Amino acid sequence: MKPLASPLKSRSMRPAVLCLAGHDPSGGAGLQADIEAVAAVGGHALGILTALTVQDSRNVRKMVPVRAALIAEQLRCVVADSRPRAIKIGLLASQAQLAPILEVIENLKAPVVCDPVLRAGGGRNLSSATMIAALCHRLLPQVSVLTPNAAEARRLSGRTRLDDCARVLLDRGCAHVLITGGDEPGKEVINTWHTGSSAPMRFRWPRFPEIFHGAGCTLAAAIAGRLAQGDEVGTALEFAQRWTHETLRRAFAVGRGRRIPGRWLPSGHE
Ligand code: PLP
Repeated sequence: MKPLASPLKSRSMRPAVLCLAGHDPSGGAGLQADIEAVAAVGGHALGILTALTVQDSRNVRKMVPVRAALIAEQLRCVVADSRPRAIKIGLLASQAQLAPILEVIENLKAPVVCDPVLRAGGGRNLSSATMIAALCHRLLPQVSVLTPNAAEARRLSGRTRLDDCARVLLDRGCAHVLITGGDEPGKEVINTWHTGSSAPMRFRWPRFPEIFHGAGCTLAAAIAGRLAQGDEVGTALEFAQRWTHETLRRAFAVGRGRRIPGRWLPSGHE
């Protein structure tokens, strides 16, 4: 799986983000969220599906993993042709999928943003204990920016206090952890950026009176899109949170369940 020897240098190129994610037919989360978010912040998503799902705007009913060999073949093909500037990882559906993904991470040497998808907002569990152990031991050491919500941070680390969770996740090898607080109580959503080297930095956002579908994917993909364009991590985190907050202000309904972020304004409505 060799990347191009030298990046293409055409002015008409947009920085590519390699996105590994599941398919959500409701269009709120998963790869569709990644494609829309990466494009909206100025990049281009190279999309590799990890799973098909049966779901609506309320909950996931079924998940069918894509074969790891097919993912490996797609990665080889796309990386032989394009030079992704960042990698964004969402839902991983089998342990076998880790090997080709770790190989592409090693070859590309691009920043890796990982949004650990362990449970759907509607409650369906999407990850087993053995899958979580594999993520912790094999993937987290390669992650540049991990973006768990509070529940995911607790499940990955086995701790309760969020600052303790972050310390465990940093010890496992992630360079940066942004724990999002959309699933915590309080008038504000507090997202906390942890690095090994400096004190945690808290970003505070007014809380909307509802839970959305696909907000986590949207934020993580926007971070990856900005890192692909050369932003420093702090700049990318700030930009992506501000932009994601706007998409939640523009959220719309696709069905009877949770509303999804408005990542695009239809042409003529800008
Ligand atoms: N389905 C897929 C493919 C996802 O990637 C995710 C989250 O990332 C979900 C469902 C659940 O999204 P949410 O927790 O926002 O409902």
